[in-house]
Amino acid sequence: MELPKPIYNLSDSEIERKRMIGSMGTFLLKFLTDEFIKNGYQWIMPVIFSKSTDPLWPDPGASIEKRLEAEIYGSNVKVTQSMIVHKIVACSLLYEKLFTYSPNVRIEKRERAFTGIHAYEFTQLDFEIRDAESADVIKFVESIFYKLKKVFAENYDHLPSNLENLINPPWKIFDSEKLREEFGQDWEKNVLDLNEPVWVVNIPREFYDYQDFNTGKWDNYDLYLPALGEVLSGAKREFKYSKMLEKISRDGLKEENFKVILNLAKSGKIKKCAGAGIGIERLLKWVTNVDHIGNVQIFPRIPGHVYDL
Ligand code: ATP
Ligand code: ASP
Ligand code: MG
Repeated sequence: MELPKPIYNLSDSEIERKRMIGSMGTFLLKFLTDEFIKNGYQWIMPVIFSKSTDPLWPDPGASIEKRLEAEIYGSNVKVTQSMIVHKIVACSLLYEKLFTYSPNVRIEKRERAFTGIHAYEFTQLDFEIRDAESADVIKFVESIFYKLKKVFAENYDHLPSNLENLINPPWKIFDSEKLREEFGQDWEKNVLDLNEPVWVVNIPREFYDYQDFNTGKWDNYDLYLPALGEVLSGAKREFKYSKMLEKISRDGLKEENFKVILNLAKSGKIKKCAGAGIGIERLLKWVTNVDHIGNVQIFPRIPGHVYDL
């Protein structure tokens, strides 16, 4: 796989292709934004620097080379890896349904340059719903993705080939524990071979995803698209102070980094909610069928490769 070139090194025909991908991106963003607003979600603006961000730990797929921090006005802040904490707090205190386009900075290990699906800066369409269960989120996502196929078919001469795989929902759901038992560490390959969208549930990971302490099972989910891999991660959320605290300590995280959400949980102000985040560049890569995620970014952000612009 060739690494994407920056726009100032593209030929005329490559620039033309980039324009086409960009306009499909505009179409995709408009469609998604309209759907969320139509469904009663409030659109909130993202944060970049904060005392609290996603720890991205523990996560079976995590591969972060460096976590970025800065000092501003005498305070130490972290660069957003995901807006999960803000999302849960805003959903609990402010809006029953919300979404944001959140810039995520994740300094992925440099060997991820060639996965084709990792960038070190990308955008999550992150959303959260109060009082929702996992099944509600799964149903909502399936309906939006299925509609996406329909609107592309109506608005473009040819349906992008990958979208043909968006079969009528409901989609298959697999338990990650069982996949691991059956196929070992490389279970993702088997899921992708199915050539249809697939949900994977019960994935051991960060403290904010709900875990039943009696069974050990996690109430979370990832969506896999054929010929891509993971496009969405989400969960029903943990809201009990004692469980959050226990998991933060179990994961070796610093309590002070999650002070606000912990204090709110302690006073019963963190509400039951569920949500997810969709990787926008990954989704666009899939829709446009380009080989590398950097090819859908106007300014590619490829692990290990820092361009001049
Ligand atoms: P992966 O295992 O593929 O590295 P992840 O599980 O670490 O991803 P999440 O923390 O679940 O990623 O992030 C939510 C969504 O954001 C993912 O489902 C994916 O669509 C997108 N995403 C995550 N990391 C990247 C990245 N480095 N570049 C582009 N998109 C990403
Ligand atoms: N956006 C994800 C979620 O909603 C969290 C993440 O980015 O890791 O669960
Ligand atoms: Mg994930």
